[in-house]
Amino acid sequence: MKIINPATEELIREITEDSALTVQSKYELARSAQSAWGKVSLEERIACIKRFHDLIEKNQESLAYDLCAEVGKPIQEALNELNGARTRIRFFIENSAQWLKTTPIRVDGTTAESISFDPLGVIGNISAWNYPYLVGVNVFIPALIAGNAVLYKPSEFATITGLNIAKLLHEAGIPKTVFTAIVGDYKSGEAMLDLPLDGYFFTGSYKTGKHIAERVASKLVPVGLELGGKDPLYVTDEVTDLKQVANAVAEGCFYNNGQSCCAVERVYVHQNVYDQFISLFEKEVAALKVGNPMDRSNQQGSLTRPSHVAFIESQIKDALDQGATLLVGGKKIEGKGAFFSPTVLTNVNHQMKVMKEESFGPIIGVMKVKDDTEAMNLMNDCEYGLTASVYTSNQERGKTILAQVNSGTSYLNCCDRVSPYLPWAGRKNSGLGTTLSYLGILTFAKPRGWHIRG
Ligand code: NAD
Repeated sequence: MKIINPATEELIREITEDSALTVQSKYELARSAQSAWGKVSLEERIACIKRFHDLIEKNQESLAYDLCAEVGKPIQEALNELNGARTRIRFFIENSAQWLKTTPIRVDGTTAESISFDPLGVIGNISAWNYPYLVGVNVFIPALIAGNAVLYKPSEFATITGLNIAKLLHEAGIPKTVFTAIVGDYKSGEAMLDLPLDGYFFTGSYKTGKHIAERVASKLVPVGLELGGKDPLYVTDEVTDLKQVANAVAEGCFYNNGQSCCAVERVYVHQNVYDQFISLFEKEVAALKVGNPMDRSNQQGSLTRPSHVAFIESQIKDALDQGATLLVGGKKIEGKGAFFSPTVLTNVNHQMKVMKEESFGPIIGVMKVKDDTEAMNLMNDCEYGLTASVYTSNQERGKTILAQVNSGTSYLNCCDRVSPYLPWAGRKNSGLGTTLSYLGILTFAKPRGWHIRG
């Protein structure tokens, strides 16, 4: 497999892909190692994860360099991702023991009732490339702490990072057979679906997630899906500082080139502030500097998948053909690399793909609405339900709107943010199950009810 830098189009490295045969043998080793790992004390398992946390910090410059080279994100964003991953890991280090410990529930006459937790067993983690550290640690850290063995397949677009993760986990004391990287594209992913794993945890597109859920359904094992989004954001006519809002919205739309599951993907603006917002927003977006991701002065790097340029162009064409106006951007930047100028479309509507289909790139449609009811109806008019955001200085108004939008995460006066303390749980086509928060710790364990008499 050739790993190509999407910003320079240069070959970074060639890596041998796993075959169905090597996937099978990695599985067998993981199966034979899992029960011993499950018997290692919780404290020792957590101590390994703590060492992994510290190794990320120690190696952050080289890890950020590899991430930047492989996925094309600005070096500062790569460092931010590593920092964010360490924050999430600390959450699991500090909170797992209290949720996984055996808990006495009550005494019923002569019977003591309690709950304990067992690991699921050997689980598969098929992952995405956009935030390989962040989406990875949501799964493999709590899974390892709970005593599972993990077969981890990084995306083919983040293979070097996946191998770096495996190396550091092993250095931290996790046995090689307990955490194993599977290298390759959909073919090695398919080979994992053939295995008798005890759980499948996937981050990626709705299309692949649905396919995986269908393929493994008859195994009757837990399936967790963190899928795509088309996250709406509504600017009401009650905001104190519209310039600050325009700045925050631009960041929510274009951070990581819009390649975030919870990136803002559609913006609705109350008619009373629409013109003013548009002029502020246009300035914010036009000021974003696109270029070499290794250069710290650039805010936008290269798209990770060069083939995605054509997809973004097709959404722009579809919108323009139906009467949209191109306010900023709209073009691939000439020369080497998958650089695309941040794009804003206005005069958009819900017949256009850009307002309904996940873009996962540096493109946003902004639509004028007459009131909160219209905004709320449009926010719900979508097959995804990951996050939704409202900007207003009137908290009651904001909460009332958000409570009526069917999404797993609600943001009031913020957007594109994840807290390890809160559940990450997409609704509708955005996913199934929960990661992060205490619920995301319990995702990787099987509860056992004890009835102890005598
Ligand atoms: P993708 O679905 O193309 O690939 C994801 C993973 O699945 C990769 O490792 C890939 O090799 C593997 N895969 C592909 N086909 C497979 C098959 N048939 N069987 C088994 N495995 C297979 O997604 P992507 O392009 O890597 O990621 C982008 C998507 O991920 C976007 O839709 C984004 O919104 C979503 N995402 C969601 C979250 C979340 O938390 N909800 C986080 C990050 C990304």
